[in-house]
This record gives sequence, structure tokens and C-alpha cells, in this order.
Amino acid sequence: MMPWVHASIGAFVGGRVGKAGNAFSAGVVSHGVADLIPHRDYDVHVELPLAALTIAYVWWRHGISSPEMLGALGGLSPDGENMLHRFGFVQRMLFPTHTDHRWFIGHGRSVKSPASQIVIAALCLYAAHRMGAKRR
Ligand SMILES: [Zn+2]
Repeated sequence: MMPWVHASIGAFVGGRVGKAGNAFSAGVVSHGVADLIPHRDYDVHVELPLAALTIAYVWWRHGISSPEMLGALGGLSPDGENMLHRFGFVQRMLFPTHTDHRWFIGHGRSVKSPASQIVIAALCLYAAHRMGAKRR
């Protein structure tokens, strides 16, 4: 799944969990679940700017130390090894939806349209926005 979508889902689950350390962990777990959904991945030149914009938005909207921000970073973090792999810095990945190790749990099939991911991300960012406003 596209990293900005992982960050969006992570912002939502992080906000729901509410506590910083748990929010980051919940974001990491959400990455694994979201990777199982059929999705389309793009080139790094598309994915990096979108991820940066999403993180900037979550930072602006919720704050740098908010559970939403930590959840977003947790959701994004497994794609760190993806980037290192794409650029040739690591040979094998370890995350259960990225790896070829025996703990591989699967990866969603590839689809042509990014529409489902855009809808999921928009709903998560909107829900995090609304629920974050109630918490303050
Ligand atoms: Zn992934």
C-alpha cells in the first residue's frame, strides 16, 4: 500500500489509541493489516512526496508529539526497509508483509486503480481530524 495511505491509517489508529508509545505500535500493526488489502504501489518519485505531505499535514493538524503523529510515523515506519531495499542498502526485508522469510503473512494483490486507497486515506484523515478536535 502507498506510504501516505499507511500514514493516514496510522494517524487514525494512533488517535484512537491515544497514548504515545501505543499509538506508534498501533500504527506499525495497521501497516501489516493494510498491506493485505489489494492495492497499487507507485514509483518512489510519486510515493515520497505524498508521504511527506501527509506527515506535514498530520504535524500541522495534530502536533509533533500527538498520538496521531506517532501513529502516522508508526504506520509509515515499515516502509523504511522498503526504501532501503529499493535503493539497494538491504538485500532482504523483515516485515511480515514484505519479506520472503517464513513469517511472511501475505501481501494484497495488485490492482490498477488507486481509488480504494484514496478513499481509505481520506476517511482516516477526516476521522482523525474530527476525533482530534473532540479530544482538545
Ligand atoms: Zn508495506
